[in-house]
Amino acid sequence: MNKILNSIKLYTAADIIEAQLVQKLLASEGITTSLKNENLQSGVGELPFVEMWPELWLLNLRDLDRARQVLNEFVNRNVASDWVCTICNERNPGSFEICWMCAETSTDDEDNLTA
Ligand SMILES: [Zn+2]
Repeated sequence: MNKILNSIKLYTAADIIEAQLVQKLLASEGITTSLKNENLQSGVGELPFVEMWPELWLLNLRDLDRARQVLNEFVNRNVASDWVCTICNERNPGSFEICWMCAETSTDDEDNLTA
């Protein structure tokens, strides 16, 4: 084990909103992260444009596996594929949980909803 490496870059977010969302999500799992480049984007107009995105750095390497799992779930949820309503056959974007046409829920989540 390399003891010098005590934090690791976990995720590069598209914007500060996403970075904070992911950080919150990880925190809810007990995973501590540090947000870098956060301040660069608040100074819009003062700084010349630089390609700096907010970065989440993992502080405890032992959280790495769990953190990656949380990130995977987050990313997959964002890019969820379209689904077709079983009631009206209308196509819905993956980000919709309820059919825009008839308000039927996506079948993927049915098990969770009936609890
Ligand atoms: Zn429908």
